[in-house]
Amino acid sequence: MADSTDAGRGAPGRPRRSGTAFPRRGAEEDLPVQPSLTIPPPTPPGRRDLASLPKAHLHLHFTGAMRPQTMVELALEQGVRLPPHLLDLDPLRVPADARGWFRFQRSYDAARALVRSEPVMRRIVREAAEDEAVEGSVHLEMQVDPTSYAPWVGGITPALEIILDEAASASADTGVHIGIIVAASRIRHPLDARTLARLASRYAGREAGRVVGFGLSNDERVGTTSEFSTAFHIAHDAGLAAVPHGGELLGPESVREVVAALAPQRLGHGVRATEDPDLLDRLIDEGIAFEVCPTSNVHLGVYTDLAHVPLPTFIRHGATVALGADDPLLFHSRLLAQYAAAREVDGLPDAALADLARQSIDASLAADGLKASWRRRIDAWLEAPPQHAAPSALPSETPDEQAGRPDVPR
Ligand SMILES: [Zn+2]
Repeated sequence: MADSTDAGRGAPGRPRRSGTAFPRRGAEEDLPVQPSLTIPPPTPPGRRDLASLPKAHLHLHFTGAMRPQTMVELALEQGVRLPPHLLDLDPLRVPADARGWFRFQRSYDAARALVRSEPVMRRIVREAAEDEAVEGSVHLEMQVDPTSYAPWVGGITPALEIILDEAASASADTGVHIGIIVAASRIRHPLDARTLARLASRYAGREAGRVVGFGLSNDERVGTTSEFSTAFHIAHDAGLAAVPHGGELLGPESVREVVAALAPQRLGHGVRATEDPDLLDRLIDEGIAFEVCPTSNVHLGVYTDLAHVPLPTFIRHGATVALGADDPLLFHSRLLAQYAAAREVDGLPDAALADLARQSIDASLAADGLKASWRRRIDAWLEAPPQHAAPSALPSETPDEQAGRPDVPR
């Protein structure tokens, strides 16, 4: 947390360099200081501070949650040479095709190769919890495929147990309640997904440091969705929510397949379901929530810019949306920046931003009692006056906006 707030203010999604000095040694002395991703966005006059808005973060991958500076420190400790583009101060940005995904995956794999011990695994969970606390998250659901870390800690069971144990203690220390989503990978055999589902089922629960859901990640274009349905049945029987990725790289037809085969409670992304309004309405009627990750969509080339991410469409249709950051390590943008973008790019007033935070709580897999207490804290955030009065020349919100009915041009 030490490097999180001392470097001044920056625009959302465009963090500046942290003021913390990078330990310099020998040939690495030219390595740039990596950006801190928890620098709060400026609060416009007459508006409320988004960092104090209680919210749930439901789409964050384990390695993708690593702080950029931690990645560089681990590489130095281990004597590993990182690909030059991972040391760029500019975040990854790729086209939404197979080559783009390959570049994304290669970057992710290079970072993941640094995670090869229990202390490093614990550090990632701990720092993610600290970063969420700075951004006002009250609840985090972190996705992990323990297969990737199993070789270094004695198998998938210890790999998951390390993460669950650290999630429990980091929850107690930071006040951010953490549940874990075990996510199978589309690029592995569906039998591996069943093994993971059985493992996840043994640790199912709603308390901090338990497994709350079962996911399916990696390139949507790989694998046959229906072949993963048995794994999702195993998870379902253990009380785990189904939270697969879908509708990010592929369109409505793929979303239909995911819904039919995996019976999701939430869709990881699901943004391209908006291309078929009837489908979108049907998903909403079925109670499926959407984990919308605007910066990730732009950096993976799904949309050209934040203004084209269909958040306003979801809102108009009455969908339940939880904003998420996906892989802050590569996109250099955490959860708070997604809320700041909804304010600045989509023009959402504070009441609508509070609604989004409420929806993130609604869509979370936390216990009902906790959800109720978090909703009361969101109400209190909205009832409190903005910190700084709006100058008379800059009216803050129209009555329509205060009622949470933004009219956002598309
Ligand atoms: Zn994801």
